[in-house]
Amino acid sequence: MRPGEEYPAALDRSIAALLGLAIGDALGAPVEGRERDDYPRMRDFAAGGTHGLAAGEWTDDTAMAICLAESLVVQGGIDERDLLARFLRWHRLGENSCGGKAVGISSTTRRVLEAFESTGRLDAAREIGNAGNGCIMRLAPVAIFHREAPMMAREAAVRQARVTHGSEEAVVAAALLAEMLVAALDGGGLDAVLAVGTGSARPDLADIAAGAYRSKARAAISSAPRARDTLEAALWCLHQAGDFEAAVIEAVNLGGDTDTIGAVTGQLAGALFGTAAIPRRWLAGLHSAERLTGLARQLHAGEPGAAVSNL
Ligand code: MG
Ligand code: MG
Repeated sequence: MRPGEEYPAALDRSIAALLGLAIGDALGAPVEGRERDDYPRMRDFAAGGTHGLAAGEWTDDTAMAICLAESLVVQGGIDERDLLARFLRWHRLGENSCGGKAVGISSTTRRVLEAFESTGRLDAAREIGNAGNGCIMRLAPVAIFHREAPMMAREAAVRQARVTHGSEEAVVAAALLAEMLVAALDGGGLDAVLAVGTGSARPDLADIAAGAYRSKARAAISSAPRARDTLEAALWCLHQAGDFEAAVIEAVNLGGDTDTIGAVTGQLAGALFGTAAIPRRWLAGLHSAERLTGLARQLHAGEPGAAVSNL
């Protein structure tokens, strides 16, 4: 994105959601897996981490979001076979990655993709009880594409989750986040977005939907790579911080699965606050920012069959 460029408000929120996802991922990547408070407070992109990335480069969270975005645009909605094929090409060939190599895949997602590769089955995830956060880290494209039809957004969130995640808890977390993203993209403020889903989530997420995180201390927030924990951590960061920059900084300084807590916080914060709230230094330093902006535009417009470009 070019500095100073302005978009209509709704498009701007869509663009910020996808950029926010990638920014949170890239900010958290250098400290992924570190103990909380065992590293200097992250405020900017940095090189390094377990994947040895350059500053501003992102991991599986953003790569799989790009796969999902392109699948939605090309197929006109969720197509499980196309989506799995794109995830597999990313895993095997490094498609849609930063340096030509897929980084950050979880062992459970790897098992699902390799089961699809060897059997062609679309429901391989069903037997692998994956409750991880992979199904929410990549979600923003679904909400942007279906933002005018909240029930379709919810259904699409569930379908894309089931492609890799057999745990109903993770699937419901994706549905709840989709509702929150749609509300944010629609211009709902922070309070309205955090109130989404109250009373409607299934029992094991009812505490999150009811806002139990609001009264939790930082020490009570888990940074484990489980979907429900990551969703709660992201909502806690947003509630604590109240703006894009502070929320994402809070997220990537929780330790543990920092890139994914950052990605979930960043996509929701972007949808809420728009590109003007994103620090210029992050927009300027993000890998593939223009490509992500273009993809968000395509998702927002719902353009079918649009061309897919390489990095
Ligand atoms: Mg990652
Ligand atoms: Mg992660």
